[in-house]
Amino acid sequence: MTETKERNVYEKISKEDVLKKLVEIFGEKYVTNKSVDLYSYSYDMTECKPHMPDFIVIPENKEQLIELVKFCNSNLIPIVPYISGNNVGGLTIPENGGILVDFGKKMNKILHIDDNMMYALIEPGVTFGQLKKHLDENFPHLRYSYPYAPPYAGVVGNVILSGMNNLSCKIGSMGDSINGLEVITANGEIARIGSCFYGESEATPDSWWSRYPMPDLMGLFINWQGMTGLVTKCAVQLWPNLSIKRTYISTVFELTDVASVMREVGRTDVIDDISAVSVEVVKMAAGIPEPKKFPGEPFFTVMFSISAKTKNQFNARMEILSNEIENLNKQGKKVLLINADEYVKLFNLRLRCYLDLPSVVLPLVEYSGLTWLGSYAPSHKLEELIEKVYKLFYKHNITPFIYLKMMKSSHYAIFRPIMRYNKFKEGEEERYHKCLEEITDISIDLGCIPYKTPAWMTEKMRQKINPGWINLFEKIKKCMDPNNIFNPGRWNT
Ligand SMILES: Cc1cc2nc3c(=O)[nH]c(=O)nc-3n(C[C@H](O)[C@H](O)[C@H](O)COP(=O)(O)OP(=O)(O)OC[C@H]3O[C@@H](n4cnc5c(N)ncnc54)[C@H](O)[C@@H]3O)c2cc1C
Repeated sequence: MTETKERNVYEKISKEDVLKKLVEIFGEKYVTNKSVDLYSYSYDMTECKPHMPDFIVIPENKEQLIELVKFCNSNLIPIVPYISGNNVGGLTIPENGGILVDFGKKMNKILHIDDNMMYALIEPGVTFGQLKKHLDENFPHLRYSYPYAPPYAGVVGNVILSGMNNLSCKIGSMGDSINGLEVITANGEIARIGSCFYGESEATPDSWWSRYPMPDLMGLFINWQGMTGLVTKCAVQLWPNLSIKRTYISTVFELTDVASVMREVGRTDVIDDISAVSVEVVKMAAGIPEPKKFPGEPFFTVMFSISAKTKNQFNARMEILSNEIENLNKQGKKVLLINADEYVKLFNLRLRCYLDLPSVVLPLVEYSGLTWLGSYAPSHKLEELIEKVYKLFYKHNITPFIYLKMMKSSHYAIFRPIMRYNKFKEGEEERYHKCLEEITDISIDLGCIPYKTPAWMTEKMRQKINPGWINLFEKIKKCMDPNNIFNPGRWNT
């Protein structure tokens, strides 16, 4: 589990003086050091070890943040950026204490929707639910790509961690859909990255339309888990909201056949999203808390989302999907295809909501604990991964829960074994963590690259990563954050 690496944070300045300065910057109402306020920021749903921050601040604008960064940099005080703490990786647990910056409360404005070039310029605190509502009400012809995260999780937190959402079979990683960022670096300087880089002080709202072709400095902030600076604005791509949208479900009877079904259908290039879950998860979704799989039942359920502008276009796409399923059946795979929109009418409203993201997917959040290995996976290794990880679930007597996704027309895949558990039951965290560690070892061995990684996981990855990468990574971190003030502890920094 994540180990806290203590550092003497207040050797250059007393806590009292820090409080005074924070009140000066943010105003008394928006600073707290009371345990009762700090506590809820000290842990998340994972088994990562909790640690209290020393202060919470709620910023309203970048001027306040520039002052904060300069102050923290000269006094060596950690800054932990936070939106809603829904990363499922312990990434906002302030391992070294310090000041947690909560962007979710006031820096949550949708600044501009560019109808013409199809992007949204937003502040870091904007949530999926907020963006969906805004688009549906004001720009119904545009849509965003949503994850299975709750509607109250953050859009920017998701894109800067390379999220994978419900258009990912078409567009790939959400990290690729960022057009531009405004960031504050360790010396308190503002940098604008992307086509918004022209102009000295502010960029016009219509200038955030592309990330290329200049040197791609965006990479200095994507997947760094808040370790290189503070994002204050972000432009994310939007997509045409095609009028016809349907979801189809396929059940796959043999354990590893799901991999080839997803790969082949992904390659047809007509699907928005391909996600699969163990059949036990479907039962959880239908309200069975600890489901068992009975002999003869399918192992996986795959969901295919299709959208089209016209009936003819939809029919053509459906024909391609049906042909592919027929081919797979001819090859001996036993695959059924069902119209999900019709099928879920048999079930409750809760289940129906899962087809219209973002929504609270209760099986994921109904327990006090949730942990996973989220990873980008080589899609040709999925069969081996599924087989080995199922064995581990059974060995530890834990209900198998695997989530899979095809990315960018099957160029790569997502492999995410998930565990829900009771945080407060003696020994449960240790038991689930042991299983997760074994899953992680096998997955890394087979070439998976975990994302939103807790520090115990990056420690394992570091043992396998080539030394040249590690040296370059550390040089860049040192250059971007010489005093290690930004989210220290992440990636074992
Ligand atoms: C039930 C559940 C299901 C999920 N399903 C999916 C899924 O299907 N697909 C998927 O991709 N994700 C999924 N997620 C994860 C989720 O989408 C994202 O990781 C999430 O949106 C980010 O969480 P957050 O907004 O709370 O950010 P936080 O957790 O608060 O922060 C995320 C990271 O960004 C850093 N950060 C925050 N603000 C800033 C800033 N302004 N500048 C620099 N760094 C910053 C933080 O320090 C942290 O490292 C799921 C999560 C849950 C709880």
